[in-house]
Amino acid sequence: MTKHIFVTGGVVSSLGKGLTSASIGLLLERRGLNIRMQKLDPYINVDPGTMSPYQHGEVYVLDDGSETDLDLGHYERFTDSPLSRGSNYTTGQIYQSVISKERRGEYLGKTVQVVPHVTDEIKQCVRKLAGPDVDIVITELGGTVGDIEGLPFLEAIRQIPLDVGKENCLFIHLTLVPYLKAARELKTKPTQHSVGQLRQIGIHPDILIVRTERPLGSDNIEKIALFCNTEKEAVIEEIDKEFSIYEVPQGLLDHGLDQLILDKLHLDAQPPQMDDWREMLQRLRNPEHEITIAVVGKYIEHRDAYKSIYESLDHAGIANSSRILIKRIEAQDIEEQDPQLLLSGVDGILVPGGFGRRGIEGKIQAIRYARQCEIPFFGICLGMQCAVIEFARNVLGLPNAHSTEFASDTDHPVICLLEEQKKITYKGGTMRLGAQPCLLSEESHAAECYEADEISERHRHRYEFNPEYKAQLEESGMVVTGSSPDGTLAEIVEISDHPWFVAVQFHPEFKSKPSMPHPLFSGFVAAALQRHQQRLQWQM
Ligand code: GLN
Repeated sequence: MTKHIFVTGGVVSSLGKGLTSASIGLLLERRGLNIRMQKLDPYINVDPGTMSPYQHGEVYVLDDGSETDLDLGHYERFTDSPLSRGSNYTTGQIYQSVISKERRGEYLGKTVQVVPHVTDEIKQCVRKLAGPDVDIVITELGGTVGDIEGLPFLEAIRQIPLDVGKENCLFIHLTLVPYLKAARELKTKPTQHSVGQLRQIGIHPDILIVRTERPLGSDNIEKIALFCNTEKEAVIEEIDKEFSIYEVPQGLLDHGLDQLILDKLHLDAQPPQMDDWREMLQRLRNPEHEITIAVVGKYIEHRDAYKSIYESLDHAGIANSSRILIKRIEAQDIEEQDPQLLLSGVDGILVPGGFGRRGIEGKIQAIRYARQCEIPFFGICLGMQCAVIEFARNVLGLPNAHSTEFASDTDHPVICLLEEQKKITYKGGTMRLGAQPCLLSEESHAAECYEADEISERHRHRYEFNPEYKAQLEESGMVVTGSSPDGTLAEIVEISDHPWFVAVQFHPEFKSKPSMPHPLFSGFVAAALQRHQQRLQWQM
């Protein structure tokens, strides 16, 4: 019988519920259990694909092409649990399904209501992940207890123990105990209120994970346990980790969270196998080098907008014994200043994906600077499209070259829509999405990094490299080194006489893990490290 863990959050948002859920998943997997992970998001958008990165941070894409919440990125980086469309549901999706059923007459004339019809739909979404080979499904509920929109989800998960047995379900509530400087005290009242709200709904949390910047101390733990009707042992402190998010699982392990969960779910399991994770942390803590990578983007002040890119750079740093200092540069600032002012001294330049015209010219100038100064360059999705535009303008001598996304009437549409995308007017889920195969050319940086001739990577874009310009670009030194198997789509371009200039149409950042850094990120950081060391030698 598959068991269920539900993770809710209280007091404030941004408590790191996704990270904590991913860490729980990791600990249980390291004890030999087969888990599945899932996030329920109470907003009405069908998926985050249509939301601005300012609203929602990065949109995380899965192999099957679903556009999901960025917490699923944590799940994939921390665990091996397979993720798919069933791993992220929103209120929008739940209602879409209920309304379609109603239109098909499946409710047989009944009045369709939040309870039981919407709640039944939510329960089905949770139960779908259970199965004979699955020990535990971990379901994280987005938002904060007390939000109006979260109520149907809380009601649905309250009912699940009635369907599958109380002994098969566990409720974990993540809360905050703030430190009030003026009173010089940690305050437990918000936690008490938040648990109180859950209990009114009928959910009695079995375990409380308490985020705090200082150790709670036994007094606070006892107080929380008493007022929240929980055992002392089930109040687990989660102290802020200054250094790295990858320390969170070890912290929870040190507090015995894994064993507590197993005891409460009446499960036996092997001792935790954490050696490789600890070794990875050890390498992360003791880098031999320090290099600076400039990320030139559009949502630079919003930390979550390029979440997987920053994580992937850190992973590549682990692989290269290097601490990565990220210099976040707003592309528009480069338009107003000499690129040299902002970019001199960096060891590598990365231009990530994006949409819309703002900042495009700044990205193109940054790429020109990387090309001319032989600084390792990594372009991702829009970053690749800008690299092609830059090369066409400044090397092929086509000053008006552009993408039709930004200049529909350009004389030289080096990036454009292919026929099948031209017909689409609907915005949600209509891009080239998800895992697609790509063949690599021998003797390319890409083939060297991947050590393979065929790869699969995830996509999320509408516009493509225009094949009409391929011959011209290749003659001048920008070569296509990765293509779709039928040869029609260019997936990777490189500049042959540059130390490391690789630009890809896909999103490699969605497939990097701390324990398994992505080959292209590792190759890019290795090239940046080489440049860094050369510069140190020149200075000597
Ligand atoms: N805006 C570009 C496109 O739609 C690039 C998308 C991206 O970088 N994810 O093709």
